[in-house]
Amino acid sequence: MNNIAFIGLGNMGSPMAINLVKAGYRVKAFDLITDSLKDFVAAGGEKADSAIDAVRSAEVVISMLPAGEHVYELYNSDNGLLAQLPNGCLVIDSSTIDANTARQVGESAAKLGIDFIDAPVSGGVSGAIQGTLSFIVGGELGCFNRAKPILEAMGKNIFHAGNIGSGQIAKTCNNMLLSVLMAGTAEALQMGIENGLDPKALSDIMLKSSGRNFALEIYNPVPNVMSGTPACNNYKGGFMVDLMNKDLGLAFGVAQDSGSNIPMGKQASVLFNEHANNGNGRLDFSSIFQYYNNN
Ligand code: NAD
Repeated sequence: MNNIAFIGLGNMGSPMAINLVKAGYRVKAFDLITDSLKDFVAAGGEKADSAIDAVRSAEVVISMLPAGEHVYELYNSDNGLLAQLPNGCLVIDSSTIDANTARQVGESAAKLGIDFIDAPVSGGVSGAIQGTLSFIVGGELGCFNRAKPILEAMGKNIFHAGNIGSGQIAKTCNNMLLSVLMAGTAEALQMGIENGLDPKALSDIMLKSSGRNFALEIYNPVPNVMSGTPACNNYKGGFMVDLMNKDLGLAFGVAQDSGSNIPMGKQASVLFNEHANNGNGRLDFSSIFQYYNNN
């Protein structure tokens, strides 16, 4: 399985495809925006003129696209890729999309004898560059095992969550929790500040107490409390508020399908949407601290 086609070389896809080239795979890639392929070609990757051109002689196809409609269109539309792929080909979709689209594409692939897994990632652009992403995979165990060595060239933690669609659901659960943790941490820190506490001292206290969480550990939302965080860089870089809102939208869809009650997720969504509507959509999601700070 040395020939890989990679579709979608944006902020995430480009460094992921480059890491595959570095690991010795022969990678042919396509993006609608030709300029996106510059770094990849400089790293030794091969440029394709179309998605169909990219998959010629590919044993594995990886996609990293914005949303479900792009994935459906790429694989399942009348001129979609599935019809072009040979029997036994492995398709890995790493885009963050709704589980239903992943299942639909997976069912169409199965009818054609093509293996399909959904494999969304956690770890952001820096994880993609450093090759330390977490892959959260949905699909048959045999397909998971087949994909694992390839995913290990781009990531550090490779999880099997269950059947097709489960990768997307697990990722959605994680990101909904992350939104709640970040908003809650910002809220507690701002209340402490308004009561005369030093945010660094309060962070240290909560870090060693029962409020300990990811935001306090490595992603403090208050400027100048923890070096290297987006908060110390005017909330540039990191994970955009707009992407968090996209993931919270996916969480709503999951909850609706299963009849799950998500009052905390809904509240976090209200906060992050209002924050985006105030012009902060492209800032890192820890900038939700400013929402409390400015109100
Ligand atoms: P991006 O917008 O930077 O890249 C998407 C790329 O796909 C673009 O270059 C676009 O031109 C290309 N594209 C769209 N339709 C195409 C098609 N039909 N054929 C070929 N190329 C096509 O987005 P990104 O930040 O790289 O994110 C990709 C996916 O990863 C999204 O689903 C996102 O939610 C998820 N994700 C992003 C991050 C992050 O921090 N950026 C983290 C985890 C997961």
